[in-house]
Order: sequence, then C-alpha cells, then structure tokens
Amino acid sequence: MNEFELDPESMSFTLISDAKETCKACEKGTELASIPFDRGFTSVYEVKNDVQPSKYELTGGFFKSSPAHGYEEIVVDSKSHENRLKKYSIEEIEQLLSILVERVNEIDKYGFGGNLVITRTTEGHGYFDIFILPVPKDERKSCVECGILQNVSDKEIYRTENLVVYVPFAPKYEYELSVSPKIHMKFGDCDEVILFDLAAIIKKTLDSSKGENTIAIVQRTDNHFKLVITDGKKDAFELLGINKVSTSPSAVAKKIRDSKVYGNR
Ligand SMILES: [Zn+2]
Ligand SMILES: [Zn+2]
Repeated sequence: MNEFELDPESMSFTLISDAKETCKACEKGTELASIPFDRGFTSVYEVKNDVQPSKYELTGGFFKSSPAHGYEEIVVDSKSHENRLKKYSIEEIEQLLSILVERVNEIDKYGFGGNLVITRTTEGHGYFDIFILPVPKDERKSCVECGILQNVSDKEIYRTENLVVYVPFAPKYEYELSVSPKIHMKFGDCDEVILFDLAAIIKKTLDSSKGENTIAIVQRTDNHFKLVITDGKKDAFELLGINKVSTSPSAVAKKIRDSKVYGNR
C-alpha cells in the first residue's frame, strides 16, 4: 500500500511505495480512450501503481484519517518500446500537447487534487505520465509564479509574446529551464497559440541537447502552470519536492528492533 507521510519539521512529503520500476506503457492495463494523432495514435491508460488513497493528511496541525487521493494515467504515442519525441516536428509536438490539454480538462472534472505534473522523457517508451496529487498543499494567498516572473531579471534567457524562458532562482538540477506564461493561467486553458510556442521551445531545446532530457508540465495549487525542461530522467514526485522511500518507517523500526544490534531477546 502506497501512502504519503508529512514531515512536520520541513513540511515536505515522503511517498512510501514499493512499486517496482517497470515500463508503464508495456505493462498497460485497460485502455480508457484512444485519441487520433497524425503520426499514428495515442492511447490513454490509467496506472494504479504509485497513487493510491493516502490514509492520513495534516489537518489543523494533527494527522487525521483522510479520503485524500491522487490519480495517474499515461498517454502513449508509440506501440513499441521506443521514443520518437526528438523526431517529432513542432506541429506534432503541439498536437500531443493539445491532447494533454484535452485529458487534463477531462480529469479536472473529478477533483483528484490541486497539483498536476506531466512528465515525458526522451528515452525509453514514448508516453506522457499524468499525475494529479493532493499534496503538497500550499496555503499561500498569492501566486508564486507571478511573483517570480516580476523578478526574473538576469536569469531570463528570452521571451516570446506569451512566454518567458528562464533559469529558476533555486534550481534543483544542473540543467533546468522554466517556461512560464506571462499571464496567470492553467495548463487546461492553453490555446493553439501558446501550445505552438511551447512546442517550438521544446523542439529547439531538445534539438540542441545530446543526452536524455525530461520535459514536464508542472502546475501547483496556485494554478499557474510552467513547462520545465531538465537533463536526465525526472519523475512527478521529484519535481514536486516529494521524497520517495520503499519501506514504511514502522517496518524499518521493527526490523532494527528485531535485529541483534539492540539486544532484543
Ligand atoms: Zn515499454
Ligand atoms: Zn500566477
């Protein structure tokens, strides 16, 4: 059983999950939808490995039993275990992004949680991994991204009519770009113009990169989305600052208690 635990000290979450690393697209379950795409097809599958109802959340300073839950689905654009992202044209990337907008607006009806992360790597099987998570919760009243955009100064790389491309104030990785809409907006509200701009930036960045990259749509509870481009393979939890361990703290404690180290008889 996977669940989130909150560290009351740092207020960061840890996901306890023993799910094994497998190819989600090769292990797919029941198809939820099939959406046409110029270069063949896209298929949508729900994934039940990582996101399960979490048992507890912090309410008013105490852990309480909670119906909090999340949701995960993948949008696959390759039948075989291969990845064509770097080969797609700007128009094809735009088309895939517009399929994601369609899916996000569909999922949004169910209120699974306030954080949206969609990741796509350039290697392995070609699919977009859509996560909706109820954590972390953000109590701030104003939009963080709007504040960042006002103060981006020398971290700016360039801007288009609608988007600003910059390096974050406190990057998590050696190579990390943020691409944010100038106006406060949700990913689900993107029109063709913004999607084309995003696709062009993705294409330009991936064309100039040699190794593996992750592109991600990240939208926290303040509902101002950004596109993140990093090197290497990153997952939704990492991008939201959620730690991941495979064994529950109670199980680890029991194992240590039962070991000879502490002299149990
Ligand atoms: Zn695969
Ligand atoms: Zn904003």
